[in-house]
Amino acid sequence: MNTPSLLVLAGDGIGPEVMAEVKRIITWFGDKRDLAFDVSDDLVGGAAYDAHGTPLHDDTMAKAQEVDAVLLGAVGGPAYDDLDFSLKPERGLLRLRKEMDLFANLRPAQCFDALADFSSLKKDIVSGLDIMIVRELTSGSYFGEPRGIFVENGERVGINTQRYTESEIDRVARSAFELARRRNNKVCSMEKANVMESGVLWREVVTAVHAADYPDVELSHMYADNGAMQLVRNPKQFDVIVTDNLFGDILSDCAAMLTGSLGMLPSASLGAPMENGRPKAMYEPVHGSAPDITGQSKANPSACILSFAMALRYSFDQGDEAARLENAVQSVLAKGIRTADLMQADGGKAVSTSEMGDAILAELDASL
Ligand code: NAD
Repeated sequence: MNTPSLLVLAGDGIGPEVMAEVKRIITWFGDKRDLAFDVSDDLVGGAAYDAHGTPLHDDTMAKAQEVDAVLLGAVGGPAYDDLDFSLKPERGLLRLRKEMDLFANLRPAQCFDALADFSSLKKDIVSGLDIMIVRELTSGSYFGEPRGIFVENGERVGINTQRYTESEIDRVARSAFELARRRNNKVCSMEKANVMESGVLWREVVTAVHAADYPDVELSHMYADNGAMQLVRNPKQFDVIVTDNLFGDILSDCAAMLTGSLGMLPSASLGAPMENGRPKAMYEPVHGSAPDITGQSKANPSACILSFAMALRYSFDQGDEAARLENAVQSVLAKGIRTADLMQADGGKAVSTSEMGDAILAELDASL
């Protein structure tokens, strides 16, 4: 098989800082595990706007469609706050998601034992937590028409439309069931079928997909408001949660924070399989460009590194190598090596971004 290709879009703020560490990890896998990648770089967000006057150049978009996977750092920053909506850095990200049709957003919420104290919840509730939220990413309230602010009877009305087709629900449900089979074989589907027709359809389609093709997976349904409550009451009851774009936006942030720090949270956005069988895919940390710490070597590269681990698992079928990388991050934390975002008030000295990279590479070496 050809060398797999990666397009690296480091973006703005701490994006390039954390991505520099990911690139060292990628090189390590090429050198030490015979797992080489053909890596190319390009611009996105404010960096692309500065160079081309657009947050994503058409050539970059075309490259993203051709590669096996895209790795993205972060976009945005105060310098771009006053730009027209269509030119804002985030539009680059949205264009990638939309044109690659990345309909399934995977957000793991995993609590590394060494970080259980960072959760706002009690340690025994989160320690050992390992759940995955699958959020539908390309439809629902954020895209449905009609949308806009209109004038009716002399006053303004703001309108967004929650709209889902059967096929949109079907494909994201399949992603969730497939994932569950590779994990603990349980899916909980969340909607508001009690008050929303789109929720009624969601529940019907998920149930039908399950009955037809995934009867071996345990399926349950929950109203999304109860889901939010259960996530903070007893999150370990879940394995995979599948939900729509709007509820998923909120529930995945809630689940993520169970684990403590933005600097630790990876994500994957997957679309339909390409000709070579790999899904269209983009991997990125959940955090933004962190302008408050940009250029200070304080950023935690773990979220971006763990996003690459997701790429190994979901794009390149290298689950064992993904686990090797995740274990390396876990071992570093267990040794008390931390970036500033993970220091307790009374903690010791924080390491820099590249020192965190050094420590993870040392653990990878030790794993051989
Ligand atoms: P943010 O995630 O950039 O930062 C929030 C807080 O978390 C900050 O205090 C920051 O220092 C800290 N933080 C974030 N990542 C960290 C890391 N890896 N290591 C250590 N600390 C980290 O969110 P924000 O401040 O609301 O947004 C800043 C900019 O990023 C805005 O322009 C926003 O639009 C953009 N943004 C982009 C994305 C993305 O690219 N996917 C996501 C969210 C926000």
